[in-house]
Amino acid sequence: MTTRSDAVGFELAVLCAGGALAGLLHLTGLPLAQALLLVLATYLLRHLYLLWRLARLIQRQHRLVPPFPFGLWGELYRTVGRYQQRSRKSRKRQLRFQRRFREAANSVPDALVVLSKSQRVEWANPAAAGLLGVHWPAHEGRCLSEVCAQSGLGDYLDAGDYARPLEVAAEHDQSIMLSVRVAPFGERKRQRLVVGRDITKIYHLNMIRRDFVANASHELRTPLTVIAGFVENLSRSASTPDSHKRPLSLMEHQTNRMRSIIEDLLTLSRLELEDTAHNLTPVNMPQEIDQVVADARALSAGDHRIVLELDRDLLLIGNQSELRSAISNLVFNAVKHTPPGSRVRLVWQSDPGGPVLQVSDDGPGIAPEHIPRITERFYRVDKARSRASGGTGLGLAIVKHVLSHHDAVLSVASAPGCGATFTCRFPRASGLSRQSRARQASPLPPQ
Ligand code: ADP
Repeated sequence: MTTRSDAVGFELAVLCAGGALAGLLHLTGLPLAQALLLVLATYLLRHLYLLWRLARLIQRQHRLVPPFPFGLWGELYRTVGRYQQRSRKSRKRQLRFQRRFREAANSVPDALVVLSKSQRVEWANPAAAGLLGVHWPAHEGRCLSEVCAQSGLGDYLDAGDYARPLEVAAEHDQSIMLSVRVAPFGERKRQRLVVGRDITKIYHLNMIRRDFVANASHELRTPLTVIAGFVENLSRSASTPDSHKRPLSLMEHQTNRMRSIIEDLLTLSRLELEDTAHNLTPVNMPQEIDQVVADARALSAGDHRIVLELDRDLLLIGNQSELRSAISNLVFNAVKHTPPGSRVRLVWQSDPGGPVLQVSDDGPGIAPEHIPRITERFYRVDKARSRASGGTGLGLAIVKHVLSHHDAVLSVASAPGCGATFTCRFPRASGLSRQSRARQASPLPPQ
């Protein structure tokens, strides 16, 4: 194998031989300048020929294979040959990867559709044909809204808020429930991957669970009301023997607890059945807070100091009864789960991000490991304490549902011994000032 120094050596040897040849030609009578010119022209012609051949081979994408020319040109041919081989290998690897990736994507049971920046179909897997009616390559380059008439999908894509999936019945078969997610990707996230999943089974299971809880709670309500009525009458009756008074008062307490649980379960079922907030009206939040606080003061019986910091001009577009239920759960929790002497603070104001409701207390707080779970149904940090305070374990689940109906989010900040702060952040568009409400209510007559 020749090395680079061999190649340089060869070129020097050729030049020396050329010099010697020029000397010989000079001896035969040719002028030295002409002899040198002849030798150099021959040397240059060789270079031009090898350069032209290399350019042609590269242009026609021919493989550079031995035998290679001698000298530096041979070295150059070999190097280019090595690069060609390397790029061939990496191209093959890329093609193999691309094929395997496509095979994997084709075997995914969910619909996958890649959209260009202008929302045109670039690629789709076979499942997209069955679930969304998008066929690839037949629909390549067509606008998604033209080929997929799925109701709501166009608006969902245009809205650009993909935090929550779109759940809709499939256009071609209403018995199929689809969950559609959109993931922006690529340069400045302007391309989109649409993922459609068949959630019919999960959806039906959820419906069965929802209906079961709603029906069971509903069926239990009437007998329980009757039992509670009789227990109450008996425990208050003068003819009831004293020995029965204590068991009857315990029964009354427990039936009341069961009634609260059933009422909360029914509230949750109602919230679940109605997917988004209905009866949206401008809600006078300061007034709602005042009424809840009056009830909370009665519950606390003067044991707590309740402080209000309310922007009385700030209203909220929402569902009045749902919002009242969320506020009262948060405020009653702050009273129920803190010892006498605690301070409860309520803030209602507008942030740059939108209206914010904050309920904080300086009670025992919540340990960090419980915080992610406290909005689950029946999750209590301290079961005995919650029961003793009349808690159902459903209050924060109700708050979470109400907030999700209002596109709002709940965040909890707390540490043991440092109190707890529950913050509800509403979307900016849902805030309304009292003045603009007044202007809306009495529009100026057209001029
Ligand atoms: P409950 O009816 O038991 O209050 P919730 O769903 O309203 O049920 O609350 C869940 C749990 O979160 C409560 O059992 C309690 O342990 C904890 N919790 C809620 N609010 C507070 C608070 N302000 N301070 C301390 N713990 C709280």
